[in-house]
Amino acid sequence: MKKILIRNGFLCDGTGREPEKGDLLLFGDTIEEIAPEIHCPDAEDVDASGLLVTPGFIDVHAHSDIRKILYNECRTKLLQGVTLEVDGNCGSSASCVPGECAGYTWKDLNEYKEVLKKVRPAVHTIALCGHNSVRRAVMGDRNRAPEKEELEKMKAILRASLEAGAAGFSSGLTYFPGKFAATEELCALAGTLAGTQKPYVSHIRSEGDDLLAAADEALKIAQAGSGRFQFSHIKTMFPRNFHKIDSLLEKLESGKKEGMYIAADRYPYVRSATVLHQILPPPYDKNVAVSKDLASSEAYCQEVEEALKRSPRDISTTILARTGKTFGELAEEQGAAPEHLAMLALKENNMQSAVYLCMSEENLERILLKDWVCAGSDGISAQLDDPATFNHPRAAGTFPRFFRMVSRLRGTGEAVRRMTSLPAEIYHIPRRGLLKKGFMADLVILDEKTYDSKADFKGENQTPLGVRKVFVSGRTAYDCACPEEIGRFGEFVAIE
Ligand SMILES: [Zn+2]
Repeated sequence: MKKILIRNGFLCDGTGREPEKGDLLLFGDTIEEIAPEIHCPDAEDVDASGLLVTPGFIDVHAHSDIRKILYNECRTKLLQGVTLEVDGNCGSSASCVPGECAGYTWKDLNEYKEVLKKVRPAVHTIALCGHNSVRRAVMGDRNRAPEKEELEKMKAILRASLEAGAAGFSSGLTYFPGKFAATEELCALAGTLAGTQKPYVSHIRSEGDDLLAAADEALKIAQAGSGRFQFSHIKTMFPRNFHKIDSLLEKLESGKKEGMYIAADRYPYVRSATVLHQILPPPYDKNVAVSKDLASSEAYCQEVEEALKRSPRDISTTILARTGKTFGELAEEQGAAPEHLAMLALKENNMQSAVYLCMSEENLERILLKDWVCAGSDGISAQLDDPATFNHPRAAGTFPRFFRMVSRLRGTGEAVRRMTSLPAEIYHIPRRGLLKKGFMADLVILDEKTYDSKADFKGENQTPLGVRKVFVSGRTAYDCACPEEIGRFGEFVAIE
């Protein structure tokens, strides 16, 4: 096997240090040597003059467990320089419960790992075990507490997943059926993490009106587990809650002072994308069968339309993803009220995607300033022309935008640290996140001046800009000189 010599690049090693000029020698899947100048005449030569060389980026917030089976080239991620995804966030992990996709079937995480070996996605995979998936597998979408036996079954799935290498336990408490679970249930399940280094990872119960109480609940659950907490897509939602940012950051930082390990991920946008169902105010937000009920009762349609006027979401600026237009624009075109059109869309399918303008630019910047906040796309691996990625540019744009924002605020070295060694530290990922002798040769070569994303909410300009070459396990997975050829060398990375 030929060694690879990456010469003359600005090496940004992932520790937070600013880049320094140097050479890097790869042998097999490993970084063999790093030095200001390396001579190795037999090696394959890669000239990185004027370019930044960094460890492969780690996307701690991915939802690709099914998508990477369908689209194993993972272009949305790979072309940003992502070499490893943490799947199974927000309580949703198809990998840990019986599932099927594209002719493959699995009954648990061990079998899912075998599927990945056959599919061979372009990026590496780490799995979280998700509460919604586990609860649904055991007791459907029932709005009640689990019986003792059901709770034991859920624990057994979680324990088996952790033994198979899952990196933590995730929840998504604004979604079904997680929103039906009491704190006690989550504490009992998180108890399975006790004695490990694996975090409780949560899309917390409220990111808006009850944000602070939801953060308290999350910390309590994490303490019932390993004492490690990963705050998913940290935000303050709706203008009336923007001021809560001070209390939120204080709360998390005092938790850290008291000895908890707390980190967070964030995508660098102020619009969120999720299911349309989230537009419903209480008590309609608890109705799993809202589409069916709307289709069968005219009176219920009127009731829901009236209720939507009380939604904390701004309906006029909400984009109905499949149309690429806001309800405000659609209302103008059709001469109808935005709430009426939102009700009709819910009737059609309450699980379709919508994009909500709900966050603050100023708070985004305050969050990104924190040295415990890493990049997380909340997006899927897909092809760049896949309509499913069009609802939000974050799937293909998070890393360049995060890099640009954090390097402006805190410098290049710190931006790269938050995309590499910080995620590796959060999940105890072996031999990744640094340019270091003996570490895995997952690497990115990029042009700092042009590294960017112009992806928009209409699904245009999705292709990330500025990445020249991506190595996964020491082999070329992407080279901008021949963008059609994707090398698929991703593996499942088990966390002990
Ligand atoms: Zn989420």
